Amino acid sequence: MFFMMGITQQSKDLDFSQLVTCDICGSYGRYCVFMTYSLLSLFLIPIFKWNRHYYVQMSCCKSIYELSEEVGRRIENGEEVKITEADLILLKKGYTTEGHRRCLNCGYETDEDFAFCPKCGNRFN
Ligand SMILES: [Zn+2]
Ligand SMILES: [Zn+2]
Repeated sequence: MFFMMGITQQSKDLDFSQLVTCDICGSYGRYCVFMTYSLLSLFLIPIFKWNRHYYVQMSCCKSIYELSEEVGRRIENGEEVKITEADLILLKKGYTTEGHRRCLNCGYETDEDFAFCPKCGNRFN
């Protein structure tokens, strides 16, 4: 008897988004939730999932957070959940780096150390 068994690493987008003001880049973004897991399958039929990890990616600057497992599971189960900052651990900052500034008024971006936006005069914070 020949069993076709396989273990694969999978990732899946969870159908969840929440509007937030991004801590990293300061613009409006969405938390987009996805998960990764190991999957055991037999004859291409998924049997068992384990090693779940949940992540949040910002839609604006693509920063990535690890999401607490408890909250991630609830989202996976389709529950209404509100993600708070306490549920998130920053793994990777998006394109915004130290010293990079983005004007909240007009969206102008610069790496220069300006106190005011050179385009519209808005004060950088
Ligand atoms: Zn952002
Ligand atoms: Zn500006």
